[in-house]
Amino acid sequence: MRTPVIAGNWKMYKTVNEALEYFTSFREKGEAEGVETVLCAPFVALPALVEAAKGSRIGIGAQNMHWEEEGAFTGEVGPSMLNAVGVPYVVIGHSERRTYFAETDEAVNKKTQSAISHDLVPIVCVGETLEEKEADRTQEVVREQVVKALAGLSSDEVTQVVLAYEPVWAIGSGKSATAEDAEEVIRFVRKTVADQYDQQVANDIRILYGGSVKPGNIDSFLEQPDIDGALVGGASLDADSFARLVEAA
Ligand code: PEP
Repeated sequence: MRTPVIAGNWKMYKTVNEALEYFTSFREKGEAEGVETVLCAPFVALPALVEAAKGSRIGIGAQNMHWEEEGAFTGEVGPSMLNAVGVPYVVIGHSERRTYFAETDEAVNKKTQSAISHDLVPIVCVGETLEEKEADRTQEVVREQVVKALAGLSSDEVTQVVLAYEPVWAIGSGKSATAEDAEEVIRFVRKTVADQYDQQVANDIRILYGGSVKPGNIDSFLEQPDIDGALVGGASLDADSFARLVEAA
């Protein structure tokens, strides 16, 4: 049995005060059993959120990290810094990082390996662009991203990773994939993991759908046998709507 994950990605929204206000309101409605709930916030809000989340069922995550321990990498945050704050999750390879910050599959792999070796749960994003989808290349692109992201991890390590299939054209566009199409790609991702590792690892790994998930469509995704939850951007910014997504899971 895979525990579902509902993860919110706030992107570059919310000051520390706004984050704490949100958290107070969300905690009243958004605490649910049987689902892993995660809020991925901007770095500066993480210490306050981790403190606020103590004793709750809500996990806090970063949206990126560097793979190195420390060094001359101006503007970056390393894995031990996240450990020191007590952050358990980190989003890796989000399409906005791949597109605007030139993050490659190799960087995604280094970050994933570094996160695992620092006991952080990496939420690793993969997904095709509209151009790739229209050229019928979804499976080829997604397979390559998955295989490269997980390269070098042992079976035990891989089952700690959470994968998120996020078609780039569906992110922030209001135009989600159909639940059936998302299921088909996610089943394919699971098969890719089975080919790379084995069927047991593929059965154990959690794979989320992301891309314009909202209270009105989440049920259709959660009904799919291979979809283990959602990574949610826009609809996680409002505490009520994010609480409804958690409730649905
Ligand atoms: C995301 O940022 O990962 C995302 C899926 O965004 P949205 O839900 O707004 O499409």
